Amino acid sequence: MSWFKRKEKNIVNGQKKNLPDNLWKKCSCGEILYIPELENNLSICHHCGFHFPYQLNDYISILFDSNPRRICSNIISTDLLNFKANKSYQEILDSSDKSSEAVESYFGEIDSKEVVVALMNFKFIGGSMGSAVGEILTQSIIYAKGKKCPLIILCQSGGARMQEGAMSLMQLAKVSAYLKQFSDSGGLYISILTYPTTGGVTASFGMQADITFAEPKSLIGFAGQRVIKQTTQQDLPEGFQTAEFLLEKGFIDQVVDRKTLKKQLSKTIDLLS
Ligand SMILES: [Zn+2]
Repeated sequence: MSWFKRKEKNIVNGQKKNLPDNLWKKCSCGEILYIPELENNLSICHHCGFHFPYQLNDYISILFDSNPRRICSNIISTDLLNFKANKSYQEILDSSDKSSEAVESYFGEIDSKEVVVALMNFKFIGGSMGSAVGEILTQSIIYAKGKKCPLIILCQSGGARMQEGAMSLMQLAKVSAYLKQFSDSGGLYISILTYPTTGGVTASFGMQADITFAEPKSLIGFAGQRVIKQTTQQDLPEGFQTAEFLLEKGFIDQVVDRKTLKKQLSKTIDLLS
């Protein structure tokens, strides 16, 4: 009690230390992660193994032997329908990264084997599938066919680009048709599903590969869980729409850790090419 009776409390109100923002991140498992450490670990939670979304350039550095060549970079999104909602589509496009797209395609080598790799980019309007995405993928398929090399598409998408209406949905059919031609000509197509792969991408090229990989604990589905629950009026099973759940149900072939992704791709190409 003596502390309370003391007149001098010796409490100094020091300057509050300002901690820099963006140093910590909370994982869905509850673990608080130190961001520089997380980045050193390829954005994988050291506690539960959750693979945080990874940037396009980071995938380039872990997949290719050396700097690949970007192809189809001249194809960009345009406001075909003069679409306006809260914000016009043109405004959204104007504020997006002009040098990028929702998918970027590259020609390079994985363990000295030539490959065409199309990497979706969630940062560009949620990786949504617009007409430009459909055309870049189509040209990439044609390119891989010409080079007689495997095609890899890494999916990361919120689904169709609603600002392009039916034009966006037509990309499902277009890409699917070219993939069929590629397959008929003996081409090897591998898809990699990452967090998140949803909507039209799951409903088309995401699930049409010869071999389908997924990163651990990725969210993979068509409609959102709330919509499914409301429509079916049923409780959803545990782990619904995760990579592990889909592996158990036979939708995907293998759950692959980001750290071994290149090795697994290389092995698969060796086995099937
Ligand atoms: Zn975690």
